[in-house]
Amino acid sequence: MAEPITIAYLYEDLMNTYGDSGDVKILRYWLNQKGFDVRVDNISLDAPFNAEDYDFVFFGGGQDYEQTVVARDLKRHKQTLTDYIEAGKPMLAICGGYQLLGAYYETSSGTSIPGLGILPLHTVFKADARMIGDTEFVTDFGTVKAFENHSGRTYFDDPEKLHPLGKMVQGYGNNPEDGVEGMRYKNTFGSYAHGPILKNAGIAKGIADLIVKNHQSRIGQPA
Ligand code: GLN
Repeated sequence: MAEPITIAYLYEDLMNTYGDSGDVKILRYWLNQKGFDVRVDNISLDAPFNAEDYDFVFFGGGQDYEQTVVARDLKRHKQTLTDYIEAGKPMLAICGGYQLLGAYYETSSGTSIPGLGILPLHTVFKADARMIGDTEFVTDFGTVKAFENHSGRTYFDDPEKLHPLGKMVQGYGNNPEDGVEGMRYKNTFGSYAHGPILKNAGIAKGIADLIVKNHQSRIGQPA
C-alpha cells in the first residue's frame, strides 16, 4: 500500500479556535482527491515530535490561556521546526499559532508569552481595538475571504525576509496600519484568517500541491 501523507497537528486539543481544525479536514479532502491516504497526528503536551517525519505541519489559533500553556511545551521543538521551515517544507500557522512562531506575544493582561523566535516578527497589544470581523485579502493563490478575532498586532522585524501573505481589501490582518495579512517565509504560511482559511479553494489547492511535493521527496519518489 502507498505510504500515507503525514500531517502533524501541533496541540490539536488546545489550539483550535473558531474551527481551525477545518483546515486539516479540507486538506485531507483535497489530498484524498489526489489519491493519497492521510494520517494526522496530534502532537500535544509532552509528546515526542520529529518534524522530518511529516509532510505538513499545522498550528491552529488559541486563546491566551492555551497559548501560555503551549508556549512552555513548544520550546522543546524549536530545533526540529527551524530545520523543517528552513528546508522549505510546508507549514500553516493560524492566529495564536502564527504569533508563537515569532519572538513574543503581549497579551491584553500585560504578560508577554515567549514565542519560538524562528521567524523575525513580534506581536503586541494596544487597548484601542480588538480586531474582529470579516476579512478579505488578495494573495498569490487568489482572493481569500475569512474571519478574524485577535487582540495581538503582528509586525515584521525583517521585512526583507518575510513577505505578507496578502493585501487587505477588508478587515485588519496583521495590524491596523500595514494593510497586509499574514506572512509567507519559504513554504511556511502564517495568517490571522479563521473561517477556516482553507475553505478558499485556491490557497487550499496550492498548499495541497506543496504537501504532495514534500511527501514525494520525503519518501524518495520523483515528483
Ligand atoms: N489570543 C490571541 C489574540 O487574541 C490569538 C487569538 C486566536 O488565535 N484566535 O491575539
